[in-house]
Amino acid sequence: MSNEPVFAKVALIGIGLIGASMAHAARRAGAAGRIAGYSPSAEERALASRIGFADSLHDDLASCVQDADLVVLAAPVGAFAGIARTIAPALKAGTILSDVGSVKSAVLRDVSPHVPEGVHFVPAHPIAGTEQSGPGAGFAELFDNRWCILTPPDGADAAAVEKLKTFWQRLGSQVETMDAHHHDLVLAITSHVPHLIAYNIVGTADDLSAVTKSEVIKYSAGGFRDFTRIAASDPTMWRDVFLNNREAVLEVLGRFSEDLSALQRAIRWGDGDALFNLFTRTRAIRRGIIDAGQDMAAPNFGRNTK
Ligand code: NAP
Repeated sequence: MSNEPVFAKVALIGIGLIGASMAHAARRAGAAGRIAGYSPSAEERALASRIGFADSLHDDLASCVQDADLVVLAAPVGAFAGIARTIAPALKAGTILSDVGSVKSAVLRDVSPHVPEGVHFVPAHPIAGTEQSGPGAGFAELFDNRWCILTPPDGADAAAVEKLKTFWQRLGSQVETMDAHHHDLVLAITSHVPHLIAYNIVGTADDLSAVTKSEVIKYSAGGFRDFTRIAASDPTMWRDVFLNNREAVLEVLGRFSEDLSALQRAIRWGDGDALFNLFTRTRAIRRGIIDAGQDMAAPNFGRNTK
């Protein structure tokens, strides 16, 4: 792979977990000539400046995107329309405008109307993250061997799509292209509904803790503890995900509720075969994820349990 920068200037609108990780990974690969970062918060800009992953930090959107060859929206999805409207007049012809939002149909809907003539809009979603947020949470390896899904709209410029693909590959990702609607359905089941279940179960346990007098925390064994990790994810980001992927999430939740009722019935009627068969099928899925290199086989997710 070439060592030449893919883009002379990359502007990151949002320098939290994902924006900061992109900057670190781009630097590691030499994929960006210059990196500009925008954050509305002086505290975040000061922290980013101390860490040093950007060449310039801005409190003004227009100055951040000026002369950029790639502009990436890396803020919560609910803010994209306002950001796109503000930066539109400052984008130069030929610029690639992209994003990292966890939903894609709503991003197409919200951003497309503001994209100026001559600017190539190619949405993207790196399937990588942690429950941490902010500039200090970013690290260069976040995207290594993870998928990044591009959802170019109909008629997107093929060269722009190819260039963005090359950029994400240089950041360590494997890249797939799909339709935005399909992306939203796939992510509803693999990411959005699992987060909702985690938020729900931790909320229920918290309500119960009044009854169990903090035993929930004291005895939090593997299962519950893993849910609390997911349920510690950024509230703004996840509020915006659910507000912007409503149809797909509701569709998957409908299926989930039916299947949960079937499990409830199996427990009530002592149908051990039904339980055993499902648990055997799901164990094979876990093995498939490990075989695909998307997680480690170490017990307890490789945590040091001492
Ligand atoms: P994060 O760590 O909370 O960072 C968000 C960044 O956006 C911060 O710099 C924040 O600044 C800034 N921001 C907030 N409101 C803004 C606004 N109105 N205008 C401009 N900037 C604003 O979040 P993240 O995890 O990096 O998520 C960023 C995006 O990546 C989201 O769209 C999310 O859906 C997507 N994503 C996240 C993950 C994940 O696992 N976390 C994975 C894949 C994709 P302040 O802190 O000053 O508000």
